[in-house]
Amino acid sequence: MVDEEVPRSLCFPVGGFLLSLTIGAAPVSVGLHDRTGHQMYELSEGELSFESWVAKYRPLKNHITKYPDPSADFDQFETYGEEWEFIKTQDPHNVWTYIDGDSSSLLVQGTAYVNRISYYVCEVPWIDGPDETVVISIDSECMCFDSSREDEDGEYGVDGCDLCGGSGYATEYVD
Ligand SMILES: [Zn+2]
Repeated sequence: MVDEEVPRSLCFPVGGFLLSLTIGAAPVSVGLHDRTGHQMYELSEGELSFESWVAKYRPLKNHITKYPDPSADFDQFETYGEEWEFIKTQDPHNVWTYIDGDSSSLLVQGTAYVNRISYYVCEVPWIDGPDETVVISIDSECMCFDSSREDEDGEYGVDGCDLCGGSGYATEYVD
């Protein structure tokens, strides 16, 4: 890129003013990584960060668990036993399922089964309409990923890579 050294200016409307923000030169690496190699994930429409989900839906404390965390404002619920029995009695609109997908971990609306890790029960119900998904983390190809490099452990990265430990995939947590 020829203009790599030229700072780019962006303007954001903030409180009625235009805030001029100058950001540095474009990273040398290509793709989704910034200059530290840390991946940047941008939420798409219908995707929420965990933080904004908490603010919007207000997840509740788990009143059943034998291992309460007094410092937590809200808790997860287990997928078995008394906690699962409780989840089944809830309106699905108040329930979100934490699922572990192939390349991401997410909260999805309602009481899901496939790849479930845990549940949340929220004070504010979600509304039927376009789905909302809470993106907890995304796995993506590390800078060292090379599809031709697969080793006996099914890893595609450089052994000892600081970012991925050699797996070839790095996990980015949103928030
Ligand atoms: Zn790596």
